[in-house]
Order: sequence, then structure tokens, then C-alpha cells
Amino acid sequence: MAADIFGLMRDLLREEWKVLAKGKPPDIEPGNHCTKPFTCEFYNFCNKLLPVDHVTNLPGITPKSLEELTRQGIQSIFTAWCARRMVMTMARTC
Ligand code: SF4
Repeated sequence: MAADIFGLMRDLLREEWKVLAKGKPPDIEPGNHCTKPFTCEFYNFCNKLLPVDHVTNLPGITPKSLEELTRQGIQSIFTAWCARRMVMTMARTC
């Protein structure tokens, strides 16, 4: 059991050293993973360009919804609201 944990830790640390040895950070968009289960030490570095009304600030947003909005290139709550209104309006008129 202890050997398994040490083996797992050794493998995880090897992977982390490989990532740290790269010249640039991984190409991963900031999201809920930045604060859960704890706030990442690079949070301010990665998240400084986010708008005040970024969709991650939506109360109760699920990771799946956040992923979908990110996939659509929607970062702003206002933009998400406008897009949703437009879809609802089009659905009513068609
Ligand atoms: S803040 Fe941390 S977890 Fe979030 S994208 Fe940056 S490095 Fe990754």
C-alpha cells in the first residue's frame, strides 16, 4: 500500500517536472479547475485578462456549461445572455 502511494507520487512528480521544464505554460484555458480544490498559485497570472463579467462568475455554472460557452468563444455573461436571447427570439419567429 505505502509502496503504491510512493510509486504514484514519484510518477506524478516526474510528470510535474516535465511540465515545469517546458519553456511555456500548457495551453489550457483558465476555468473552475483554477480554484477547485484550491486556488492555484498562478491564478493571477492566468486570469488577469478575464472580463469582470466572465462566465466563471455565473452562480452555479456547471463545468459542462462552462466548457460549452468556452467552446463557443463566449467569455462575457452579457454576451452569453445576448446569444441566448437571440436564439430564443429566432426560435419564436421561425
Ligand atoms: S491558474 Fe493554475 S490551474 Fe488555472 S490555468 Fe493557470 S496554471 Fe492552470
